[in-house]
Amino acid sequence: MARVFDSYYAGGSWNRTARTFPDINPGNDQVWANIADMDINDVRRTLQAAQEGFSEWSQMPFTERANFMLKAADECDRRKDDLCAALQAEGGGWWGKGMFEAGFISTVFRAAAAMAYQSIGEVLPSEHGKVSMAVRVPMGVISVISPWNFPGILSSRGFAIPMVAGNSIVLKPSEETPYCGGIFFAEVFDAIGLPKGAFNVVTCSRDNIAEIGDELIENPIIKGVSFTGSTAVGRMIAAKAGAHLKKTCVELGGKDSLIICDDADLEKSAQLANFGSFMHQGQICMSVEKVLVHEKVYDKFLPMFIERARKLKVGDPTSDRSNVIGPLINDKQAGIVKTQLEDAIAKGAKVLLGGGVNGRYVEPTILTGVTPDMLIYQFETFGPVVPVIPFRNDEEAIAIANDTDYGLSSGIMTADENRGLEIASRLETGSSHVNCSSVNDEPHAPFGGAKSSGVSPHGGRWSLEAFTQTRWITLDRGHRHLPPVF
Ligand code: NAD
Repeated sequence: MARVFDSYYAGGSWNRTARTFPDINPGNDQVWANIADMDINDVRRTLQAAQEGFSEWSQMPFTERANFMLKAADECDRRKDDLCAALQAEGGGWWGKGMFEAGFISTVFRAAAAMAYQSIGEVLPSEHGKVSMAVRVPMGVISVISPWNFPGILSSRGFAIPMVAGNSIVLKPSEETPYCGGIFFAEVFDAIGLPKGAFNVVTCSRDNIAEIGDELIENPIIKGVSFTGSTAVGRMIAAKAGAHLKKTCVELGGKDSLIICDDADLEKSAQLANFGSFMHQGQICMSVEKVLVHEKVYDKFLPMFIERARKLKVGDPTSDRSNVIGPLINDKQAGIVKTQLEDAIAKGAKVLLGGGVNGRYVEPTILTGVTPDMLIYQFETFGPVVPVIPFRNDEEAIAIANDTDYGLSSGIMTADENRGLEIASRLETGSSHVNCSSVNDEPHAPFGGAKSSGVSPHGGRWSLEAFTQTRWITLDRGHRHLPPVF
């Protein structure tokens, strides 16, 4: 029986909508839930409720806001198994991915609670002997728009620190994962007795996302926007928000390289290439999308990588925990991956492993002979298909890694730490990880992209800076001299 979530959470209460939309399990095509399909009036009521909730929430002592984050963390831990099952059913992910994600969310809330205790202002010198302060204040209502691939982590990462800073939140999860990315958090905050209106959720189907998306950016109640998703949508959102002079933090797509130098530990490199390329079917923004291997170790590395990837079982992860490679999220995504694969093969790429596409199920696929004219070289794949490309020297590896509009993350494998840091310093990416893959995230670290991968990082004090307003406040003690004519 499909679950029913036909009410939206706004102002601390659940409100019935006129319509619902189906939330499909991509692994078996069954309707997992029916979800409230909010219309524009529902959304405006939600924004109003968030505005009303702002004064109580923002004026509450920061210690109490931090305590709510800690309670939310405990509540998430308590619901971990249920959330894991929901993540698998809504998102089509492997059980291990679900457990990781469900467990990570509480650390996001605990990191947010800690942020509330950080010094966020400064006392400045004053020419006139004033008490001169730069203080940070919450902005008001922030809209948070999140994607489907890690809905629990990417929603909570978007809202937790802005929220603990005193902003009230309107969260809009992806229509592919409206429960794990949104309704789940409404249940958590409802259960812990959060003050009314501090946290609200908007769910809608893809049919009315354009209208509702605009409202979540352009409505004067909204003071800032946190967006995680594709570069195409993020670019449009940043432009709209910019036209309204609203702060935005956009985290977008990637085309990340893992560079394997000739002195690297090849077993470890093969393991990291396998994890980075195929975890969650390659549907991670910072997935390894190009494995660059020094020509001296290329022939040795390839069979090691293939052997590991060959063991990854493909199938519906909701029916069998040992299926590590589940379905892609939807037919559109499977179509993009198939087109890139066919284009590469037509232009001369060789399939060393996999290559099978069965509906939304795509085998872990390793390609060689990939060249810059191929779609898979240029565009984000977001699927379990990865090229392995040889390079002659570090200069060439850096040039290939930087040969993309994207700039999210990168990984470098080498036994020489100085060499690793030197390469890292020259990669045009928001993050670089020496002796690890590009896939890394910790809630207190700055996570963001360069080039077309994003503007303004999330995480730790960087989220706090993005979603607070800096004010200059002074206190004069009689030392400021004025022109005597006045
Ligand atoms: P998407 O851009 O299609 O959707 C993201 C969100 O935007 C969803 O909630 C969607 O409903 C909403 N949206 C769509 N159209 C909108 C509109 N007109 N106005 C307002 N909101 C709108 O992306 P997706 O398919 O959900 O996610 C996959 C993409 O996200 C990939 O490109 C991936 O690399 C990227 N991503 C980036 C990060 C990061 O931190 N950099 C993390 C995860 C995913």
